[in-house]
Amino acid sequence: MSHQCKGKVRHPTRQGAIIALRRVKNIAMDIYQCPSCKGWHLGRTREASRCADRITQVLDRHAAALAKRMEGRNG
Ligand SMILES: [Zn+2]
Repeated sequence: MSHQCKGKVRHPTRQGAIIALRRVKNIAMDIYQCPSCKGWHLGRTREASRCADRITQVLDRHAAALAKRMEGRNG
């Protein structure tokens, strides 16, 4: 799986990626080490984690609704 870095700027060091991140001045951007090329890229990791939070929220609500239904059946 090497499609991850296609079209992305690869920084060989973390320091280089940090410098590039400062240059873009985008607070929604973060740096991460690429598992396929072992280089560093800039990406929107904060947005991705926000998305993951949302999924967790939905799952929690679903679990709560299920628990409520079970209670209703028992009582
Ligand atoms: Zn890469």
